[in-house]
Amino acid sequence: MTRIEEILQKDEFTKSELVELLKADGGDRKKIFEKAAAVKKQYVGNKVYFRGLIEFSNICAKNCYYCGIRSGNKKLTRYYVTEAEVLEAVKYAYENKYASLVIQAGERSNKKFTTTITNLLHKINELTNNEMGITLSLGEQSEETLIQWREAGARRYLLRIEASNPELYRKLHPDNKTHDYTTRLNALHLLRKTGYQVGTGVMIGLPFQTLDDLADDLLFFKEFDIDMAGMGPYIEHEDTPLYQYRHLLMSKKERFDLSLKMVALLRIMMKDINIAATTAMQTLDKMGREKAIKVGSNIIMPNLTPVKYRDSYLLYEDKPCIDEEASECKNCLEARIHISGDEIGYGEWGDSLHFKKRKK
Ligand code: SAH
Ligand code: SF4
Repeated sequence: MTRIEEILQKDEFTKSELVELLKADGGDRKKIFEKAAAVKKQYVGNKVYFRGLIEFSNICAKNCYYCGIRSGNKKLTRYYVTEAEVLEAVKYAYENKYASLVIQAGERSNKKFTTTITNLLHKINELTNNEMGITLSLGEQSEETLIQWREAGARRYLLRIEASNPELYRKLHPDNKTHDYTTRLNALHLLRKTGYQVGTGVMIGLPFQTLDDLADDLLFFKEFDIDMAGMGPYIEHEDTPLYQYRHLLMSKKERFDLSLKMVALLRIMMKDINIAATTAMQTLDKMGREKAIKVGSNIIMPNLTPVKYRDSYLLYEDKPCIDEEASECKNCLEARIHISGDEIGYGEWGDSLHFKKRKK
Protein backbone atom coordinates (compact mmCIF):
# COMPACT_ATOMS: atom_id res chain seq x y z
CA MET A 1 0.00 0.00 0.00
CA THR A 2 1.35 3.45 -0.89
CA ARG A 3 1.64 6.18 1.70
CA ILE A 4 -1.28 8.08 0.11
CA GLU A 5 -3.49 4.95 0.19
CA GLU A 6 -2.61 4.57 3.83
CA ILE A 7 -3.67 8.15 4.60
CA LEU A 8 -6.84 7.75 2.58
CA GLN A 9 -7.98 4.87 4.76
CA LYS A 10 -8.75 7.43 7.43
CA ASP A 11 -11.59 9.96 7.43
CA GLU A 12 -9.90 12.64 9.48
CA PHE A 13 -6.64 14.11 8.30
CA THR A 14 -3.97 16.05 10.13
CA LYS A 15 -2.51 19.17 8.59
CA SER A 16 0.67 17.42 7.48
CA GLU A 17 -1.32 14.58 5.93
CA LEU A 18 -3.40 17.13 4.04
CA VAL A 19 -0.24 18.72 2.71
CA GLU A 20 0.94 15.30 1.52
CA LEU A 21 -2.41 14.75 -0.16
CA LEU A 22 -2.27 18.17 -1.80
CA LYS A 23 1.15 17.28 -3.21
CA ALA A 24 0.09 13.89 -4.59
CA ASP A 25 0.28 13.32 -8.33
CA GLY A 26 0.01 10.52 -10.88
CA GLY A 27 -1.50 7.33 -9.51
CA ASP A 28 -1.75 8.77 -6.00
CA ARG A 29 -3.83 11.66 -7.26
CA LYS A 30 -6.11 9.22 -9.01
CA LYS A 31 -6.60 7.34 -5.74
CA ILE A 32 -7.77 10.54 -4.05
CA PHE A 33 -10.25 11.19 -6.84
CA GLU A 34 -11.57 7.61 -6.71
CA LYS A 35 -12.14 7.79 -3.00
CA ALA A 36 -13.88 11.19 -3.28
CA ALA A 37 -16.16 9.91 -6.05
CA ALA A 38 -17.12 6.90 -3.94
CA VAL A 39 -17.84 9.09 -0.91
CA LYS A 40 -19.96 11.42 -3.02
CA LYS A 41 -21.97 8.54 -4.43
CA GLN A 42 -22.57 7.01 -1.02
CA TYR A 43 -23.46 10.17 0.90
CA VAL A 44 -25.06 12.64 -1.51
CA GLY A 45 -25.84 10.42 -4.50
CA ASN A 46 -25.37 11.27 -8.14
CA LYS A 47 -27.73 14.22 -8.40
CA VAL A 48 -26.52 17.67 -9.30
CA TYR A 49 -28.70 20.60 -8.28
CA PHE A 50 -29.08 23.84 -10.22
CA ARG A 51 -28.90 27.25 -8.59
CA GLY A 52 -29.85 29.89 -11.17
CA LEU A 53 -27.37 32.73 -10.67
CA ILE A 54 -28.40 36.36 -10.88
CA GLU A 55 -25.47 38.78 -10.70
CA PHE A 56 -27.71 41.50 -9.36
CA SER A 57 -25.24 44.40 -9.29
CA ASN A 58 -21.54 45.15 -9.74
CA ILE A 59 -21.69 48.18 -7.48
CA CYS A 60 -19.44 47.46 -4.53
CA ALA A 61 -18.34 49.48 -1.53
CA LYS A 62 -15.23 47.36 -1.06
CA ASN A 63 -11.89 47.30 -2.71
CA CYS A 64 -10.52 43.75 -2.47
CA TYR A 65 -7.15 43.56 -4.22
CA TYR A 66 -8.06 40.54 -6.37
CA CYS A 67 -11.49 41.47 -7.67
CA GLY A 68 -12.33 43.01 -11.04
CA ILE A 69 -15.43 44.83 -9.76
CA ARG A 70 -13.69 46.44 -6.75
CA SER A 71 -14.76 50.05 -6.17
CA GLY A 72 -11.35 51.32 -7.25
CA ASN A 73 -11.77 49.98 -10.78
CA LYS A 74 -13.00 53.04 -12.64
CA LYS A 75 -13.01 51.33 -16.04
CA LEU A 76 -16.33 49.64 -15.39
CA THR A 77 -19.87 50.70 -16.16
CA ARG A 78 -21.76 50.08 -12.95
CA TYR A 79 -25.21 48.47 -13.16
CA TYR A 80 -27.95 46.87 -11.22
CA VAL A 81 -30.50 44.55 -12.77
CA THR A 82 -34.01 46.02 -12.67
CA GLU A 83 -36.74 44.34 -10.70
CA ALA A 84 -38.61 43.44 -13.90
CA GLU A 85 -35.45 41.81 -15.31
CA VAL A 86 -34.84 39.85 -12.10
CA LEU A 87 -38.41 38.59 -12.11
CA GLU A 88 -38.10 37.58 -15.74
CA ALA A 89 -35.01 35.52 -14.93
CA VAL A 90 -36.80 34.02 -11.93
CA LYS A 91 -39.76 33.10 -14.11
CA TYR A 92 -37.41 31.35 -16.52
CA ALA A 93 -35.85 29.42 -13.64
CA TYR A 94 -39.23 28.50 -12.19
CA GLU A 95 -40.68 27.33 -15.50
CA ASN A 96 -37.59 25.27 -16.20
CA LYS A 97 -37.71 23.62 -12.81
CA TYR A 98 -34.53 25.12 -11.40
CA ALA A 99 -35.73 24.96 -7.82
CA SER A 100 -33.11 27.35 -6.47
CA LEU A 101 -31.62 30.77 -7.09
CA VAL A 102 -28.49 32.62 -6.03
CA ILE A 103 -28.59 36.39 -5.85
CA GLN A 104 -25.03 37.74 -5.85
CA ALA A 105 -23.68 41.28 -5.94
CA GLY A 106 -20.99 43.62 -4.76
CA GLU A 107 -21.21 44.46 -1.08
CA ARG A 108 -23.46 47.30 0.04
CA SER A 109 -25.17 47.72 3.35
CA ASN A 110 -27.09 50.99 3.15
CA LYS A 111 -30.78 50.94 3.94
CA LYS A 112 -31.85 51.54 0.35
CA PHE A 113 -29.96 48.48 -0.82
CA THR A 114 -31.03 46.17 1.99
CA THR A 115 -34.68 47.18 1.51
CA THR A 116 -34.43 46.64 -2.25
CA ILE A 117 -33.28 43.08 -1.58
CA THR A 118 -36.05 42.48 0.97
CA ASN A 119 -38.68 43.69 -1.49
CA LEU A 120 -37.16 41.59 -4.24
CA LEU A 121 -37.32 38.49 -2.05
CA HIS A 122 -41.02 39.12 -1.39
CA LYS A 123 -41.70 39.56 -5.11
CA ILE A 124 -39.80 36.38 -6.00
CA ASN A 125 -41.76 34.39 -3.45
CA GLU A 126 -45.05 35.80 -4.70
CA LEU A 127 -44.20 34.90 -8.27
CA THR A 128 -43.12 31.37 -7.45
CA ASN A 129 -45.52 30.38 -4.65
CA ASN A 130 -42.64 30.28 -2.18
CA GLU A 131 -41.26 27.34 -4.12
CA MET A 132 -37.76 28.72 -4.77
CA GLY A 133 -34.87 27.88 -2.48
CA ILE A 134 -33.07 31.21 -2.32
CA THR A 135 -29.36 31.70 -1.63
CA LEU A 136 -27.83 35.12 -1.08
CA SER A 137 -24.23 36.17 -1.70
CA LEU A 138 -24.16 39.85 -0.83
CA GLY A 139 -21.16 40.17 1.44
CA GLU A 140 -20.97 41.09 5.12
CA GLN A 141 -24.23 42.33 6.63
CA SER A 142 -25.60 43.22 10.05
CA GLU A 143 -27.58 40.78 12.15
CA GLU A 144 -30.66 42.92 11.65
CA THR A 145 -30.37 42.79 7.86
CA LEU A 146 -29.70 39.06 7.86
CA ILE A 147 -32.81 38.46 9.94
CA GLN A 148 -34.86 40.69 7.67
CA TRP A 149 -33.74 38.76 4.57
CA ARG A 150 -34.23 35.45 6.30
CA GLU A 151 -37.80 36.44 7.18
CA ALA A 152 -38.34 37.50 3.57
CA GLY A 153 -37.52 33.94 2.49
CA ALA A 154 -33.75 33.58 1.97
CA ARG A 155 -32.46 30.28 3.36
CA ARG A 156 -28.82 29.96 2.36
CA TYR A 157 -25.88 32.38 2.30
CA LEU A 158 -22.50 32.25 0.63
CA LEU A 159 -19.69 34.26 2.17
CA ARG A 160 -16.23 33.08 1.32
CA ILE A 161 -13.59 33.56 3.95
CA GLU A 162 -11.30 33.89 0.89
CA ALA A 163 -8.24 32.85 2.91
CA SER A 164 -8.55 31.48 6.44
CA ASN A 165 -5.03 32.61 7.36
CA PRO A 166 -5.40 36.18 8.72
CA GLU A 167 -1.94 37.16 7.47
CA LEU A 168 -2.69 36.02 3.95
CA TYR A 169 -6.12 37.67 4.13
CA ARG A 170 -4.41 40.91 5.03
CA LYS A 171 -2.22 40.77 1.92
CA LEU A 172 -5.30 40.44 -0.26
CA HIS A 173 -7.24 43.36 1.19
CA PRO A 174 -6.67 47.00 2.08
CA ASP A 175 -5.57 47.42 5.68
CA ASN A 176 -8.65 49.13 7.10
CA LYS A 177 -11.78 48.44 9.08
CA THR A 178 -14.05 47.57 6.13
CA HIS A 179 -11.65 44.84 5.08
CA ASP A 180 -10.91 43.34 8.45
CA TYR A 181 -10.46 39.56 8.81
CA THR A 182 -12.19 39.39 12.18
CA THR A 183 -15.21 41.24 10.83
CA ARG A 184 -15.50 38.72 8.00
CA LEU A 185 -15.21 35.80 10.40
CA ASN A 186 -17.84 37.34 12.66
CA ALA A 187 -20.12 37.83 9.66
CA LEU A 188 -19.84 34.10 8.99
CA HIS A 189 -20.80 33.33 12.59
CA LEU A 190 -23.78 35.68 12.30
CA LEU A 191 -25.05 33.65 9.35
CA ARG A 192 -25.10 30.53 11.48
CA LYS A 193 -26.74 32.39 14.35
CA THR A 194 -29.51 33.77 12.13
CA GLY A 195 -30.39 30.33 10.80
CA TYR A 196 -28.94 30.27 7.30
CA GLN A 197 -27.37 27.27 5.65
CA VAL A 198 -23.84 28.60 5.65
CA GLY A 199 -21.53 28.38 2.68
CA THR A 200 -17.97 29.56 2.51
CA GLY A 201 -14.83 28.97 0.51
CA VAL A 202 -11.44 30.21 -0.57
CA MET A 203 -9.57 31.09 -3.72
CA ILE A 204 -6.89 28.60 -4.68
CA GLY A 205 -3.50 29.47 -6.12
CA LEU A 206 -3.35 33.01 -4.77
CA PRO A 207 -0.03 34.80 -4.71
CA PHE A 208 1.70 34.24 -1.32
CA GLN A 209 -0.53 31.21 -0.58
CA THR A 210 1.16 27.95 0.45
CA LEU A 211 -0.02 24.33 0.63
CA ASP A 212 0.03 24.75 4.40
CA ASP A 213 -2.51 27.55 4.00
CA LEU A 214 -4.75 25.35 1.87
CA ALA A 215 -4.54 22.49 4.36
CA ASP A 216 -5.54 24.98 7.06
CA ASP A 217 -8.43 26.18 4.89
CA LEU A 218 -9.80 22.63 4.75
CA LEU A 219 -9.42 22.26 8.51
CA PHE A 220 -11.14 25.63 8.95
CA PHE A 221 -14.18 24.41 6.97
CA LYS A 222 -14.35 21.29 9.09
CA GLU A 223 -13.96 23.21 12.34
CA PHE A 224 -16.60 25.76 11.37
CA ASP A 225 -18.82 22.84 10.36
CA ILE A 226 -19.95 24.53 7.13
CA ASP A 227 -23.02 23.37 5.20
CA MET A 228 -21.90 24.39 1.73
CA ALA A 229 -18.66 25.23 -0.05
CA GLY A 230 -17.72 27.20 -3.13
CA MET A 231 -14.05 27.18 -4.01
CA GLY A 232 -12.20 27.88 -7.18
CA PRO A 233 -8.90 28.97 -8.62
CA TYR A 234 -7.76 32.55 -8.23
CA ILE A 235 -7.66 34.13 -11.67
CA GLU A 236 -5.80 37.38 -12.18
CA HIS A 237 -7.48 40.53 -13.45
CA GLU A 238 -5.51 43.27 -15.15
CA ASP A 239 -7.24 46.18 -13.42
CA THR A 240 -6.52 45.03 -9.86
CA PRO A 241 -3.57 45.61 -7.50
CA LEU A 242 -2.83 41.89 -7.18
CA TYR A 243 -2.03 41.71 -10.88
CA GLN A 244 1.47 43.02 -10.16
CA TYR A 245 2.25 39.69 -8.46
CA ARG A 246 1.26 37.51 -11.40
CA HIS A 247 4.88 36.33 -11.77
CA LEU A 248 4.43 34.52 -8.43
CA LEU A 249 1.48 32.47 -9.65
CA MET A 250 1.39 28.80 -10.49
CA SER A 251 0.42 28.03 -14.08
CA LYS A 252 -3.32 28.01 -14.73
CA LYS A 253 -3.21 24.24 -15.17
CA GLU A 254 -1.55 23.80 -11.78
CA ARG A 255 -4.10 26.09 -10.15
CA PHE A 256 -6.90 24.10 -11.73
CA ASP A 257 -5.45 20.76 -10.64
CA LEU A 258 -5.01 22.00 -7.11
CA SER A 259 -8.59 23.28 -7.03
CA LEU A 260 -9.86 19.90 -8.16
CA LYS A 261 -7.89 18.25 -5.40
CA MET A 262 -9.30 20.68 -2.82
CA VAL A 263 -12.84 19.73 -3.92
CA ALA A 264 -12.06 16.01 -3.69
CA LEU A 265 -10.41 16.29 -0.26
CA LEU A 266 -13.26 18.38 1.12
CA ARG A 267 -15.75 15.80 -0.09
CA ILE A 268 -13.83 13.07 1.74
CA MET A 269 -13.63 15.20 4.91
CA MET A 270 -17.19 16.57 4.89
CA LYS A 271 -19.24 13.86 3.27
CA ASP A 272 -22.74 15.33 3.22
CA ILE A 273 -22.21 19.04 2.54
CA ASN A 274 -23.05 20.73 -0.77
CA ILE A 275 -20.03 21.61 -2.89
CA ALA A 276 -20.29 23.84 -5.94
CA ALA A 277 -18.58 23.24 -9.26
CA THR A 278 -17.62 26.88 -9.76
CA THR A 279 -17.44 29.04 -12.85
CA ALA A 280 -13.80 29.83 -12.10
CA MET A 281 -13.03 26.09 -12.54
CA GLN A 282 -14.66 26.21 -15.95
CA THR A 283 -12.65 29.29 -16.84
CA LEU A 284 -9.35 27.46 -16.50
CA ASP A 285 -10.50 24.20 -18.06
CA LYS A 286 -13.34 23.83 -20.55
CA MET A 287 -14.44 20.64 -18.81
CA GLY A 288 -13.66 22.08 -15.36
CA ARG A 289 -17.12 21.82 -13.88
CA GLU A 290 -17.64 18.28 -15.17
CA LYS A 291 -14.34 17.26 -13.64
CA ALA A 292 -15.36 18.82 -10.32
CA ILE A 293 -18.68 16.95 -10.40
CA LYS A 294 -16.81 13.69 -10.92
CA VAL A 295 -14.70 14.19 -7.81
CA GLY A 296 -17.21 15.60 -5.38
CA SER A 297 -19.23 18.64 -6.45
CA ASN A 298 -23.03 18.40 -6.51
CA ILE A 299 -24.10 21.98 -7.19
CA ILE A 300 -23.91 24.01 -10.39
CA MET A 301 -24.88 27.64 -10.90
CA PRO A 302 -26.17 28.33 -14.42
CA ASN A 303 -25.96 32.04 -15.13
CA LEU A 304 -29.34 33.76 -15.53
CA THR A 305 -28.01 37.33 -15.51
CA PRO A 306 -29.37 39.24 -18.52
CA VAL A 307 -26.63 38.98 -21.17
CA LYS A 308 -26.26 42.76 -21.57
CA TYR A 309 -24.81 43.03 -18.05
CA ARG A 310 -22.49 40.06 -18.12
CA ASP A 311 -19.36 41.73 -19.36
CA SER A 312 -19.68 44.22 -16.48
CA TYR A 313 -19.52 41.45 -13.88
CA LEU A 314 -16.04 40.24 -14.67
CA LEU A 315 -14.52 39.32 -11.32
CA TYR A 316 -11.54 37.90 -13.23
CA GLU A 317 -10.29 37.58 -16.79
CA ASP A 318 -11.65 35.14 -19.42
CA LYS A 319 -14.89 34.49 -17.54
CA PRO A 320 -16.82 32.04 -19.75
CA CYS A 321 -20.39 32.11 -21.14
CA ILE A 322 -20.72 35.88 -21.06
CA ASP A 323 -22.72 35.85 -24.28
CA GLU A 324 -24.95 32.85 -23.70
CA GLU A 325 -28.67 33.19 -23.11
CA ALA A 326 -30.16 31.15 -20.27
CA SER A 327 -31.73 28.60 -22.61
CA GLU A 328 -28.45 27.86 -24.41
CA CYS A 329 -26.76 27.61 -21.07
CA LYS A 330 -29.31 25.05 -19.86
CA ASN A 331 -28.89 22.81 -22.90
CA CYS A 332 -25.16 22.95 -22.63
CA LEU A 333 -25.21 22.09 -18.93
CA GLU A 334 -27.63 19.21 -19.32
CA ALA A 335 -25.33 17.60 -21.84
CA ARG A 336 -22.31 18.25 -19.66
CA ILE A 337 -23.84 16.75 -16.55
CA HIS A 338 -24.95 13.63 -18.36
CA ILE A 339 -21.39 13.21 -19.64
CA SER A 340 -20.27 13.25 -16.00
CA GLY A 341 -22.62 10.32 -15.35
CA ASP A 342 -24.86 12.32 -13.01
CA GLU A 343 -28.45 13.53 -13.32
CA ILE A 344 -30.04 16.89 -12.58
CA GLY A 345 -32.29 17.24 -9.55
CA TYR A 346 -34.98 19.22 -11.37
CA GLY A 347 -37.69 20.62 -9.10
CA GLU A 348 -35.78 19.76 -5.92
CA TRP A 349 -34.18 22.28 -3.58
CA GLY A 350 -31.23 20.05 -2.90
CA ASP A 351 -30.60 21.61 0.50
CA SER A 352 -27.44 20.69 2.36
CA LEU A 353 -27.95 17.28 4.00
CA HIS A 354 -25.36 18.29 6.53
CA PHE A 355 -27.53 21.25 7.59
CA LYS A 356 -30.62 19.06 7.85
CA LYS A 357 -28.81 16.58 10.08
CA ARG A 358 -27.52 19.29 12.40
CA LYS A 359 -31.05 20.66 12.73
CA LYS A 360 -32.40 17.31 13.89
N1 SAH B 1 -19.31 40.76 -2.84
C1 SAH B 1 -19.62 39.46 -2.38
C2 SAH B 1 -20.03 38.49 -3.48
C3 SAH B 1 -19.48 38.72 -4.86
S1 SAH B 1 -17.78 38.33 -5.09
C4 SAH B 1 -18.44 38.89 -1.60
O1 SAH B 1 -17.33 39.35 -1.80
O2 SAH B 1 -18.67 38.01 -0.78
C5 SAH B 1 -17.88 36.57 -5.14
C6 SAH B 1 -16.56 35.86 -5.05
O3 SAH B 1 -15.81 36.04 -6.21
C7 SAH B 1 -15.64 36.29 -3.94
O4 SAH B 1 -16.00 35.70 -2.73
C8 SAH B 1 -14.28 35.82 -4.46
O5 SAH B 1 -13.86 34.62 -3.84
C9 SAH B 1 -14.51 35.59 -5.94
N2 SAH B 1 -13.51 36.33 -6.74
C10 SAH B 1 -13.33 37.66 -6.79
N3 SAH B 1 -12.26 37.95 -7.55
C11 SAH B 1 -11.76 36.78 -7.98
C12 SAH B 1 -10.64 36.42 -8.80
N4 SAH B 1 -9.82 37.35 -9.31
N5 SAH B 1 -10.41 35.10 -9.04
C13 SAH B 1 -11.24 34.17 -8.54
N6 SAH B 1 -12.30 34.44 -7.76
C14 SAH B 1 -12.56 35.73 -7.48
FE1 SF4 C 1 -16.67 43.64 -3.73
FE2 SF4 C 1 -16.97 40.98 -3.31
FE3 SF4 C 1 -15.33 41.92 -5.23
FE4 SF4 C 1 -14.64 42.26 -2.68
S1 SF4 C 1 -14.88 40.27 -3.78
S2 SF4 C 1 -14.52 43.81 -4.29
S3 SF4 C 1 -16.63 42.57 -1.75
S4 SF4 C 1 -17.54 42.11 -5.15
